[in-house]
Amino acid sequence: MLKHDTPPQAQWLKRTFSLVDDSALDYYYNLAFHICPDSKSRYFQYKILHNILGLNVKLKQMKIKADDRCDFCHNCVETRVHLFFECSLVSLMWQEFEKWWYGKFNENIKLSARDIILGVESGTNYRQLLNICILDIKMYLFDCKYNEKSPILDGGIHKFMRRQRIEHIIHRKRLTLAKFYSRWSVLLLADL
Ligand SMILES: [Zn+2]
Repeated sequence: MLKHDTPPQAQWLKRTFSLVDDSALDYYYNLAFHICPDSKSRYFQYKILHNILGLNVKLKQMKIKADDRCDFCHNCVETRVHLFFECSLVSLMWQEFEKWWYGKFNENIKLSARDIILGVESGTNYRQLLNICILDIKMYLFDCKYNEKSPILDGGIHKFMRRQRIEHIIHRKRLTLAKFYSRWSVLLLADL
């Protein structure tokens, strides 16, 4: 289990996302460790929560970049909330994602900044898959930023589907396919 961040960062998260207490924060701090077996995804979410991701607002403070504006819209300061939620290009993508999710799972979701930055705690029957998908899309957005590409929903979904295929290969080799199906069967059935 991860321990809390430095108090100012934890306080910022609690204040910004209206978390009632430290136990609410614990859920989000540990979420990626529960749902992702790979260290790359876990560490990516860790960097978001601890605000140590190489975003332009940070890079300018460190005098690595002169411009702190968003690499997608070139309009607003590139903070984590802006890049992953508020940016005009990205918010359109999340709207498309909500429609995609409805098409797959017949479930209406409306994602907030808190859902996207921290994770989803309620409002879905498929919490684990939804949180994995959101994390994969965030990783895809960050890749797009670094490769100077405009994000499209298909790219994020592709990353999520790739995770499913990789986990299938791993579980088949380990003879633990039951574990794979308990996690992914809802999506596999939706694809039939
Ligand atoms: Zn932007």
